[in-house]
Amino acid sequence: MKVLVINAGSSSLKYQLIDMEDESVKAKGLCERIGIEGSKLTHQVPDKDKYVVEAPMPTHNEAIELVLKALVDPEHGVVASVDEIDAIGHRVLHGGMDYTESVKVDADVKRVIRECFDLGPLHNPANLMGIEACEAAMPGKSNVAVFDTAFGMSLKPYAYRYAIPTEYYDKYKIRRYGFHGTSHMFVSAETIKFAELPEGKQRVIVCHLGNGSSISASIAGKAVDTSMGLTPLEGLVMGTRSGDVDPAVVQFIADHEKISVDEVLNILNKKSGVFALSEGMSDFRDLSAASEAGNEKATLALDVFRHKVVKTIGGYMGVLNGVDAIAFTGGIGENDADMRASIMKQFEFAGIKIDAEKNKVRGKRQEISTADSSVRVFVLPTNEELAIARETERLA
Ligand code: ADP
Repeated sequence: MKVLVINAGSSSLKYQLIDMEDESVKAKGLCERIGIEGSKLTHQVPDKDKYVVEAPMPTHNEAIELVLKALVDPEHGVVASVDEIDAIGHRVLHGGMDYTESVKVDADVKRVIRECFDLGPLHNPANLMGIEACEAAMPGKSNVAVFDTAFGMSLKPYAYRYAIPTEYYDKYKIRRYGFHGTSHMFVSAETIKFAELPEGKQRVIVCHLGNGSSISASIAGKAVDTSMGLTPLEGLVMGTRSGDVDPAVVQFIADHEKISVDEVLNILNKKSGVFALSEGMSDFRDLSAASEAGNEKATLALDVFRHKVVKTIGGYMGVLNGVDAIAFTGGIGENDADMRASIMKQFEFAGIKIDAEKNKVRGKRQEISTADSSVRVFVLPTNEELAIARETERLA
C-alpha cells in the first residue's frame, strides 16, 4: 500500500509518499506561501536533485494538485498515476475530547475538526483545508485523520483537569490535552520494541526536545501524563515559547505595558523561551557555541531549559512509580549529546549512568546508558510521518 502523508499548515503543506511494503519514503516535499504571492513547491525524490515548481497556489486545492502532478511527473515522479496512491493520512492538531484515536474521515470527523477551530486556531482550519483538498483531488480514496491530541486522551482526570471552576471544563472543554502526541506515541512504542521491554516493565518517559518541546510519561504505550496543556504553550521552556509561567504574569505585563492579553500571549508564544533569555538565539547549536565562548545569557538559557526538563522527568518518575526506559527524541534530543548527558547527570543519585562513548550518537536509535545503569536510556529518532502512515494503513 502507498500512503500519502499530508501535514497542512495555514500557508504551507508538507507531504511524503510512503510505500508501506518496506516503509520507505518514495518522495517528499513542501508547498510554501500558499495564498501568498510567490508560492513554490519543492519536491524531493531520494538520490535525485530537488525539483522546484514556482506556480500560484491561491488555496490548498492548487497546492494538492501540484503535489499530485509532481508525484506523476514523467521525470521527477514516483508513480505512474494517482490511482497508485491507496490512502491519505493527515496530521490534525486537535480532535477535542471526541476522538481518542486516529479515524477515517467522514462528515462527523470534519464537524469535530471544525468545532475545535478555537482550540487550534492556527492548525485545525488548515488541516481541514488539506483534507478537503485531497477529497476534491482524489475522490473515493480513504482519508485518515491522525490527531496530535489523541495520545493525551488516555490521561486520567487527575492528570488532565485544571483546578479551576468546573463550569469552564463543562462549557469550554478547558483541560490539558497534550500535543506532539503522534511523536510520543511512536517513540514510546518503538522504545518498548527496541529495548524489548517485557510486559509489566513498560514505564517509559519520552523527552521530545526540539524547537517545540514536551515530555510524556506512559505505561505500555498509553499516556499517563504529558507536559503540554490546553495549548502547546504549557510545560517546558522552548525555542520561543515560555512554557509554564505564573498566569498572573500575563495580567502584570498587560497592565504595565498597556497591551492586550492577546499581545502578551503572542509574546509568550513567539518571543520568549531560550530566544528571550539569550536575547536572540533559539537554535541550540548557536546557544551551545555562544555559551562555550562565554556568553552568560546563552548559558542561562540552556540552564533554565535543562532545569525544567529535569524537574519534569523527576516528577514523571514519581507519577509512574519508577521508570524502565527514558528516550530522547526531536532535534535537540537526537543530536545534542551534551544536553542529554547534563540532564541525565541529575539522576546519578538514582543509579542512572550514561556511557559517554555511546552518547556521542546523533540521529539514530541507540541505547546510551551503561550496562549497570538502573534505568535504560535511549536516543530514538521520531518519525511522525511514518506513524501517520502506519495509522492510515491500519484504518484505510
Ligand atoms: P521542531 O519542533 O520545529 O520540529 P526539531 O525537532 O526539528 O524542531 O528541532 C529543531 C531544533 O533542534 C533546532 O532549533 C536546534 O536547536 C536543535 N538541533 C538540531 N541539530 C542540533 C545539533 N546538532 N545540536 C544541538 N541542537 C540541534
